[in-house]
Amino acid sequence: MTDYDVIIVGGGPGGYAAARRLGQAGRRVLLADADGLGGSSLYNGTVPMASLLESAGLYHRLRAAADRGITTTGLSVDWPAMQAAKQRTVATLAAGLKATLQRHRVTVVQETAEFLEPGRVLVGDRQLTCDDVIIATGSVPNLPPLPGVVANPRVLAPAGLLELDQPPERLIVLGADVTGLECANLFALLGSQVTVIDSLAEITNLIDQTIAAELRPALRPVRFRLNCQIDHLDGDTVYFRAADGSPASASGDAIVLSLGRQPRFDGWGAETSGLDITCRGVTVDDCLRTNLPGVWAVGDVTGHSLFAHAALRSGEVAAALIVDPASRRRGEVMRWSTIPYTFFGQPQAAGVGLTEQACAAQGFDQIVTGVAPLALAGRFIDEAGLSPSGLAKVIVDQSTRQVLGIHLLGPAATEVIGGLAAVVEMEMTVDELGQIVFPNQTVAEGLREACWAVQRRLAAATVTLDR
Ligand SMILES: Cc1cc2nc3c(=O)[nH]c(=O)nc-3n(C[C@H](O)[C@H](O)[C@H](O)COP(=O)(O)OP(=O)(O)OC[C@H]3O[C@@H](n4cnc5c(N)ncnc54)[C@H](O)[C@@H]3O)c2cc1C
Repeated sequence: MTDYDVIIVGGGPGGYAAARRLGQAGRRVLLADADGLGGSSLYNGTVPMASLLESAGLYHRLRAAADRGITTTGLSVDWPAMQAAKQRTVATLAAGLKATLQRHRVTVVQETAEFLEPGRVLVGDRQLTCDDVIIATGSVPNLPPLPGVVANPRVLAPAGLLELDQPPERLIVLGADVTGLECANLFALLGSQVTVIDSLAEITNLIDQTIAAELRPALRPVRFRLNCQIDHLDGDTVYFRAADGSPASASGDAIVLSLGRQPRFDGWGAETSGLDITCRGVTVDDCLRTNLPGVWAVGDVTGHSLFAHAALRSGEVAAALIVDPASRRRGEVMRWSTIPYTFFGQPQAAGVGLTEQACAAQGFDQIVTGVAPLALAGRFIDEAGLSPSGLAKVIVDQSTRQVLGIHLLGPAATEVIGGLAAVVEMEMTVDELGQIVFPNQTVAEGLREACWAVQRRLAAATVTLDR
């Protein structure tokens, strides 16, 4: 008999979601994490970022409260207290996670684990056997080969920025990806002077570009230097070539590198594993199976959709299929294309399915888009008086009328998108989406307007064809 049914390497959302499901199903599970249960999501990523952004957003709303007849005096930012609030959230979630896995009899060890071969894992200094192995080792920040980065005390990863003793007076963010934008937004809301530098023509390609173009000015006073080529760093200064080709520089008390993340390949035996690995990540099929029997990979290490909710879902799918391979027939497969993206700043942005630029890249030229302002809803006007940017966008396949993508900018976008993912997942048409009743005065109502805009265009296209 093997030591365990399943050994999981890595205890982030991918690893712990799998452990939970497997434990629930009565499997004997060992989860090994070198840094402690929770992964980068709990300690360095999603949770700390969301907590600090919530505090900064509250400060932002209170500063504008007089406009709504609420007087505040002596408003100030107490960064150590914000950090303490963040720690409370992290500690509460960590305790809940530990208790959940204990309840499902998962053995959790804080040790480094190395995959040796199918059915054999080195955990600390013990060689253990198992039926299945799940690799869930996450990702690490990209470190560009830029002169002046290594051993520069001003240079930080986003996770390090969230741990500073005090907010930097001047912050430079290299990279306008979602995490870079969240860093920029957070510290700009707290009063830092923030400059974001990127080679892209528009902020993050992950977000639909109509939404991105509206979001960027809404992040003021962040200063964006786009279309720029970073050359090197020297101490507190970044030297780059500006959009017009002229040499330029910007200085900061902190310089955060947010130039993407890559799967973590070191420390778990990737090189000698025999696994099919590309620079993108460990290759998996839609069941999270690797090329080796009984070896699965979930979360960021696969290189797909680097979001905590994608890691969670992939962990659940792998676990469900280990417990019962037939559950695939009940829909337990990974559909990366319907994983929403989220931006937790002020204003929020979120989307699911294809962006317009992804449609173009994939050769979908027969699409119709509808865009509507959210300012049609009173609730939006009330909530977003401070940052009046708000849009709903729907992308539809012209011939089938199927909804290919939904994108939102505005309050509650990150909440609403979870439900809207079902629309894309269930391959609903724009007509079916347009018939859904959203409660009156909620910001999501704007989505119906976007649908009607699509329907008008489709009708106009049909009339043209009929003639
Ligand atoms: C600053 C920041 C902000 C983010 N914000 C968001 C957000 O707002 N929304 C969102 O959805 N996502 C966000 N993310 C991304 C999210 O954190 C990741 O997508 C998610 O954590 C991936 O989960 P995972 O389980 O694949 O890996 P991880 O959470 O990275 O966990 C992997 C774990 O494996 C452990 N490990 C690695 N190698 C070994 C080994 N050999 N032995 C034992 N243990 C090992 C690591 O120590 C780690 O604990 C953010 C990330 C960062 C850095």
